Amino acid sequence: MKTKTAKLSEARQKLLHNNKGMKKDFDGFYGKLVYNKEGNAGIIMRPIASDETFMVTRYNHALLSPSKKWCIIDVCAATIEEACPICERDSKPKVNYVTNIVVVGDPLRPENVGKVMLINLPATAATMLTDADFDAWDTSANGYNFMLKASRAGKTFPSYDASGFEKNPSALGTPEEIGAYVAACVPLNSILQPSFSYAETARRYEQWLRFR
Ligand SMILES: [Zn+2]
Repeated sequence: MKTKTAKLSEARQKLLHNNKGMKKDFDGFYGKLVYNKEGNAGIIMRPIASDETFMVTRYNHALLSPSKKWCIIDVCAATIEEACPICERDSKPKVNYVTNIVVVGDPLRPENVGKVMLINLPATAATMLTDADFDAWDTSANGYNFMLKASRAGKTFPSYDASGFEKNPSALGTPEEIGAYVAACVPLNSILQPSFSYAETARRYEQWLRFR
């Protein structure tokens, strides 16, 4: 008999494998939002958790030089409160709030509906989840779908202020369906390891500085 952890790990591998080749930022993650001509984007999602870790904070660096050379550190060591050579020098890391979701509605990418994915949430949306008067990760009939809405019309950075929960509560599915979604969640503590060692991060950063 498999342990719960082994099952989750298997589900994660399957999820990562199944997502290969899709438009996304990282394996297993919902990709960048797709904007319409008016500069609006949005999906309906349901936060879901397979253990007591509902959301984690991850830091990353994505530095672009004027000559379009990238230095990307997906997970910076600040995520686990360890030393990061880039943070120590001059660049503040970008913060992301990561949770598992089930995609309930996705007008511009309907093929995502029904999939369990990780998503990088901006602070505005993450705060709406954590500050809700109810449990935002409740998948029962007492829980609510969340509408992630982004608008970048006339702005440098998108605004997520229009995001919010649906008006009426709804169950995510039948108990069997919910069980399957939970089994496909990625344990969030498993995605916090820094991408590279301190020395390797320093080497990549030095190289970027030298050849940018
Ligand atoms: Zn860093």
